[in-house]
Amino acid sequence: MIEDMLRTPAAVQDSERHTAHNYHPLPVVITSAEGAWVTDVDGNRYLDCLAGYSALNFGHRHPTLVAAAHAQLDRLTLTSRAFIHDQFADFCRELAALCGKDLVLPMNTGAEAVETGIKVARKWGYQVKGVPAGQANIVVAEGNFHGRTTTIVSFSTDSDARADFGPYTPGFRIVPYGDLAALTEAIDEHTVAVLLEPIQGEQGVVVPPEGYLPGVRRLCTERDVLFIADEIQSGLGRTGATFACEQEGVVPDMYLLGKALGGGIVPVSAVAADADVLGVLKPGQHGSTFGGNPLACAVATEVVRLLATGEFQRRSAALGERLHAGLRGLIGKGLVAVRGRGLWAGLDIDPALMSGRQACERLMERGVLAKDTHGSTIRLAPPLVITEEEIDHAVAQLTAVLAD
Ligand SMILES: *Cc1c(COP(=O)(O)O)cnc(C)c1O
Repeated sequence: MIEDMLRTPAAVQDSERHTAHNYHPLPVVITSAEGAWVTDVDGNRYLDCLAGYSALNFGHRHPTLVAAAHAQLDRLTLTSRAFIHDQFADFCRELAALCGKDLVLPMNTGAEAVETGIKVARKWGYQVKGVPAGQANIVVAEGNFHGRTTTIVSFSTDSDARADFGPYTPGFRIVPYGDLAALTEAIDEHTVAVLLEPIQGEQGVVVPPEGYLPGVRRLCTERDVLFIADEIQSGLGRTGATFACEQEGVVPDMYLLGKALGGGIVPVSAVAADADVLGVLKPGQHGSTFGGNPLACAVATEVVRLLATGEFQRRSAALGERLHAGLRGLIGKGLVAVRGRGLWAGLDIDPALMSGRQACERLMERGVLAKDTHGSTIRLAPPLVITEEEIDHAVAQLTAVLAD
């Protein structure tokens, strides 16, 4: 520990002195960034292969998004929803159209979108499905990550995320991810929703078995249960489509969106659903001071327009092929498994070689930033503006780290 401190640059130590230690960041202090690259306080450049956990799908400081933010900062930043502002209608209409849904409800963080989804599903259950008061249940999956609020960690299966934060919110049932039979068993007449990530990002980019998501869709329709897809990390271009669900031909009843929706500039999240679902909320029943604020709407409307062209989804699909081909070539050469879709990959490193953390530290020394998750797994999720050459560069650096 003391040795660590001696080797740690002053700027890294400074950042830890007055901070709760709820993160264990890589020892790099970033001062500027553009596109897929960041620069540290010593002028070293790194290829960003995490992209803010997919909050930076369009890269750092995408010119269109930065211009929208600047222009909006000079006009109007906040009104609260007590009044209407001129950026609101376009954002809601265009995001609803992108999602193919009637309505959207804007919030700020991903966790708030999840909480909103849970509240809407419960109210829908009581008012539309006819579940007896206080009896609603929601089925979720093992290995889930939906955020950090007390209700959300109540149904986490990660002990770090959950332990000592009780008492826990009741009303959730946990089934193994990818197991349709277990899900069928868990649903009863009081089930109002199934809440799932179409690909489990935090768990290590875990893709469910073929046919699972269509099976969930069928089951939810048959049993009059809402299918809520948490696309906060998987959505908005990451997997090579607007939504990961789309690649399985599945349309959920509710999309939960966040991360990339804010263009890497402001926190913006949203719930999108049809009027028979989101319409259950009446004035006073839910809200957020900052949700749908003018700055957020101005930026997020441009995000929706970037996605509406399909360009980023195509890039992610095409460049993802290249990334995955490169990574598959490392299986048996330090990697034991590679999962994912588009520009999104979970890699299991041979635990005999090094931990995920060690791999990320060595990648950092070679100018590539990535993040470990759960032991020997690392996650790659570069900005969708990354080039072929930069992908090859990242794979080459990983190859070198595994060979060292
Ligand atoms: C990041 C994430 C969240 C939580 O988003 P915050 O903005 O950190 O609250 C929820 N669900 C998924 C799938 C995520 O990846």
